[in-house]
Amino acid sequence: MSQNFEVVQINENSWYFDGAVGRAFLFKGEKQALLVDTTMGPGDLRGEVTKLVGDLPVLLVNTHGDSDHIGCNEQFEHAYMHPSEFAYYAVKCKKGDAEPLPLQEGEEIDIGGRVFEVILTPGHTYGSICLLNRKERFLVGGDSILKIVFIFGPQRNLRALISSLKKLRVQYFEAFDQIYTSHSDCPVDRTFILQELSAAEDLLAGKLTGTEPGDIPLEGPDYKPAALYMKGESGFFDYKELDY
Ligand SMILES: [Zn+2]
Repeated sequence: MSQNFEVVQINENSWYFDGAVGRAFLFKGEKQALLVDTTMGPGDLRGEVTKLVGDLPVLLVNTHGDSDHIGCNEQFEHAYMHPSEFAYYAVKCKKGDAEPLPLQEGEEIDIGGRVFEVILTPGHTYGSICLLNRKERFLVGGDSILKIVFIFGPQRNLRALISSLKKLRVQYFEAFDQIYTSHSDCPVDRTFILQELSAAEDLLAGKLTGTEPGDIPLEGPDYKPAALYMKGESGFFDYKELDY
């Protein structure tokens, strides 16, 4: 079922899988492999991972609990995520999906020669995380840093997102060069954080005017949109506040 994923090699021991929606990352260490997210699925992601890392133990981390990040979670026993995401994951996961296990802010995931530091970045969801690899100077951004960031539904919070982007700018900006993003272009330069932050602040301050969401898919009955914003090709955020 490999046709369900486009496999892209980033470097000798790193790959990503582009699913129909969403992206998963695979990092091979000396002791373990780290899989970040599982896309929307469907497909034999576990099989694809095995092709690349053999029988190395695979540690699954979910950046957050949205459906396009946990779609193949049933192929794994456990999924590490921030405890603030547990309640949302309980709503979004399917029967038989990986059991959630806690991953805390500041915790270091050492897969053997490669270390990933957990950074809590709420906003897109309450328990969204990024993973920082200081030695290789990249950040796995989840949906916290994107060309299009969705802010709608009960999990989304623009003020929290702004706070998280400021935290990345103030505390971590010098520690990485590139950001591995879950949608659209990948990788992007770290300066993307500054653009997203200024647009988000302008949005909160009412300096950006709203437009209709256009062809952004608002999926499923769960997605009762409160608001969303996106960064378009123009470099500005379009925003639409919806009543419900
Ligand atoms: Zn996503």
